[in-house]
Amino acid sequence: MFIICDNCNTKYKVDESIFKKPSLTVKCSRCKHVFTAYKTQPQDVVPYILENNHSDADKPIAHVCKIICVCNQKGGVAKTSTCLNLASSLAAQQKQVLLIDFDVQANLSLLLGCKNEKSFFEAMDADGGDLTKAIIKTKHDIWLLPSNSRMALASKKYINKQNFEYLLREKLERIKKVFDYILIDTPPSGDFYTLNALLASDLAVIPTQCDYLSMNGVSHIVNMISVIRNKTRHKLDYRGLATLYDPNNTVEKVVYEKLKTQLNGKMFNTVINRDSSLQESHIARMPVISYDKNSIAGQQYHDLTTELLRI
Ligand code: ADP
Ligand code: MG
Repeated sequence: MFIICDNCNTKYKVDESIFKKPSLTVKCSRCKHVFTAYKTQPQDVVPYILENNHSDADKPIAHVCKIICVCNQKGGVAKTSTCLNLASSLAAQQKQVLLIDFDVQANLSLLLGCKNEKSFFEAMDADGGDLTKAIIKTKHDIWLLPSNSRMALASKKYINKQNFEYLLREKLERIKKVFDYILIDTPPSGDFYTLNALLASDLAVIPTQCDYLSMNGVSHIVNMISVIRNKTRHKLDYRGLATLYDPNNTVEKVVYEKLKTQLNGKMFNTVINRDSSLQESHIARMPVISYDKNSIAGQQYHDLTTELLRI
């Protein structure tokens, strides 16, 4: 397995047997930085936290876990980027954050350096529905329930079962006392995965580009949320988020104003500009805030987090 220095990013190949506990304090031989390294597959870490750090007795009474899904039926609108960067910014503020990759494409898992790890599907299938068996800690102080291509089977297996749309919500009940925020990345569709994510969430963040077709995608998801709110007692709030925004493009400015009207003001004031630093951060497999915290996108995701914390 590999461990990476969170100061200079030097990567070390180490034997897993050096971990006698789920984490280990190590010193980077290059920059001398002392940091905590985590076992790549610490399948017992979450139960460890559940049992030792967060027993019901010492759980703060006011502890509330906010579950947020990031969704839009349109692809390429920065859903995955928004999930990763919000999570990283919340973790930097000492929040315990779990990311759930609920997209078969597994882009979020890939960005966090996880390839072909156990997903929701395997946890449901082989581990009796215990999601903690699949959750891993990533190097950015964010917990992750990864995805992989087998996630496609989850929809086939459960779609005809009674109450299939509440599957994720039910499984998060036990876990949510450990986390302050759970963020769910969804695929560009309104099917099994997005429905489960919406029904498990308190808030839906809808990233959108400011063009005509994206406005259409936003109406679809807002309609879906309205149906959920009308047909169930689920109090699901939502906010639109303008992404890949070009402030010098007049059409985008006009569409942004139209979106604000369309969503009755339920848009974040923060917009995320199109910024090459974000694409570079993907290549480096880092949140943009860690890659370059002074970049425009890095600062905007920081502002977005501040706005989110006020909701
Ligand atoms: P989705 O999950 O909605 O499909 P992604 O987060 O994967 O969207 O982003 C789609 C593409 O847009 C990726 O190539 C990503 O690097 C790029 N991208 C996302 N946000 C930005 C941004 N603020 N500036 C520049 N490129 C971005
Ligand atoms: Mg995505």
